Amino acid sequence: MNEDYYDLLGVSREASTDEIKKAYRKLARTLHPDVNPDPEAAEKFKRVSQAYETLANTDKRRQYDMGGGPGMGGFPGGGGAGFDFNDIFDMFAGASGMRGRSQGPVPRQRRGGDVLRRVRIELRDVVFGTEEQVTFRTAELCERCEGSCCEPGTSPTRCTACSGSGHVQRVAQSLLGQMVTMAPCPTCDGHGDVIEQPCTGCSGHGRRAAERTVTVRIPSGVENGTRIQLRGEGETGEAGGPSGDLFVELSVTDHDVFDRDGDDLVTTVAVPMTTAALGATIPLETFDGTQELDVRPGAQPGEEITLKGLGVTPLRRERRGDIRVVLDVDVPTSLSDEERELLEQFAALRGDETTRRSTSHGGPFRKLRDRLRDL
Ligand SMILES: [Zn+2]
Ligand SMILES: [Zn+2]
Repeated sequence: MNEDYYDLLGVSREASTDEIKKAYRKLARTLHPDVNPDPEAAEKFKRVSQAYETLANTDKRRQYDMGGGPGMGGFPGGGGAGFDFNDIFDMFAGASGMRGRSQGPVPRQRRGGDVLRRVRIELRDVVFGTEEQVTFRTAELCERCEGSCCEPGTSPTRCTACSGSGHVQRVAQSLLGQMVTMAPCPTCDGHGDVIEQPCTGCSGHGRRAAERTVTVRIPSGVENGTRIQLRGEGETGEAGGPSGDLFVELSVTDHDVFDRDGDDLVTTVAVPMTTAALGATIPLETFDGTQELDVRPGAQPGEEITLKGLGVTPLRRERRGDIRVVLDVDVPTSLSDEERELLEQFAALRGDETTRRSTSHGGPFRKLRDRLRDL
């Protein structure tokens, strides 16, 4: 087996890479198993191919010239650096359409799919952050074979139909000469090896359907539509391949009382006309319990009262936003006789006669309130 690679290819030790390619191509045309059924030719083709693989690669050739032997990785499918399996077939077949096709066997391992789940959270969860359990149907690693796809104690065997290359070549005569095409090996589906005893736990897929529950930490300050990516928490890959990711898309339920404005929470509180005029302390339910809202005497509709530090905790900052309360003033829409009398006295005291309207609902307060309501 220790034939000289240069002798095998019939080239001089000074031959250029081009000359080596040409020599190999010439030999391949007569020795390739698809062309020449003689087993001896097939054997020689293997040796010639190995010689070519070494000499066509600058690094490997230097190593060989220095007496380092043929280097690592034999032909075919060794994946030797710089050796493009397709090159050979392009050389024989001209434009056979095989360019760009990956060389060598196709690995069984495949990355698992990503999983997207939508999770509804409350505004309270945005304020403080929370944890949610997300449950979904997915694929999990088969425990029986640990992703190898084989029955425990067995392993894949090299495919004899393609000698482990994962490809088979088809040669056809055409007007332009010999056409060689390469196709995935039908015996091993291009994997280069065959699983003779598939795992009974997963029918040889290395994974199986399962329901999984993942705890998702949801930080404070997230937005409606925020996607949280959990690497590797998606579908388990095929044949022990890497897992996909889990994406959790958040949907924040509208709150009855508070709207979010950046890190602030905004709400409108309606106080009676008299409260606005006289001032009062009124209770306000917040996410931090009941707080006291100080309405100053003479407070105006649309006025804002701020409760510091009771808003949303931002994603990366410590300081919380505020609660901003917009005051609305309720003007009574119907008055008892006694109330009317008192209000008329009040108006008279203040000299407000000119702005008084009889029983119409179109007074200035009402208009203002409508405007506030539309905000
Ligand atoms: Zn299994
Ligand atoms: Zn095969």
